[in-house]
Amino acid sequence: MTPYVDSHCHVTTSIEPKSIRLPNVPFQCCIMSNNGYDWWKLVNSPVADANTKLGFGVHPWYSHLYYLSEDGTSPSKEAHYRSILQGPREAELNRIILRLPEPKNLVSYIDANFSTTSCDCIGEIGLDKLFRLPENGFYQGDDTAPLSRVKVKMDHQVKVFVQMCQLAVKHSLPVSLHCVKAPNQMFELCQTHLLPHKGINICLHSYTGSVETLTGAWLKNFPRERLFLSISSYVNFKNLESASKLLQALPLECILTETDFTWDTSSENDIQEALDFVLSRITHEHDLPSVERAKEIVYANFRRFVEGGDVSTPASDSMYNVH
Ligand SMILES: [Zn+2]
Repeated sequence: MTPYVDSHCHVTTSIEPKSIRLPNVPFQCCIMSNNGYDWWKLVNSPVADANTKLGFGVHPWYSHLYYLSEDGTSPSKEAHYRSILQGPREAELNRIILRLPEPKNLVSYIDANFSTTSCDCIGEIGLDKLFRLPENGFYQGDDTAPLSRVKVKMDHQVKVFVQMCQLAVKHSLPVSLHCVKAPNQMFELCQTHLLPHKGINICLHSYTGSVETLTGAWLKNFPRERLFLSISSYVNFKNLESASKLLQALPLECILTETDFTWDTSSENDIQEALDFVLSRITHEHDLPSVERAKEIVYANFRRFVEGGDVSTPASDSMYNVH
């Protein structure tokens, strides 16, 4: 039987270093890390097996926890956060800075933690124009706080994103991308930093851009065999109609399935149900003979995504009934 594929999922971000337990399922998955807390959990928990791929990333929601030093010096905590955060109320900004941890040098973080033996993918990384910091400084699964009006400046998000793209290029690793309300900027950055490098596959996870941007920018410029969209019931199917249009516009060879769930707090049943739903919609929108066929296609796509652009690809128009 073909295994299920969850090409983009997570572990809960929490400050406390404790190892985690994941549901013991024979699914193929790629678990992202959004920050150093997640990465610590992934490498200190019994999660590694042949079915589990690990992503090393700095998500835009945590990009402020890292600094890039152009001249080799370390900024003070206060100077770093003041230079990259913006908010309409000084008092609120001050309160948040007090609660934030000492920022980390991104290059040192990568050097100390990244290795090609433990890491299969760069993710989750990206850009987010909408998000605001919670009052406790950053999103934590076990410590929620109301949202503030403080944001991370886009130019800082871009610097962190580009640094992570360069890491992907250096090691020929696929990338899993988050993009909210920055479609042109994201496309242009990927065109500059990733497209010229043949071994780099990209996955637009829970893509919320327009179908026009998908077909007019992404599908027009990126080779189809290097471009993937992983579809979730959680994000994409909040709106059935737009999700259907997206699936129809997407060649079968580019489709992946994902949950975007934190696997350490999800049951096998929740995960399977979410993936089954997306598979049934793929089957429907592409007139496939069975859900099993959709599963086979997604599985083949996932193998190509994680194994890199150098692997000869089984995908062709004769194999898939491409719309
Ligand atoms: Zn995610």
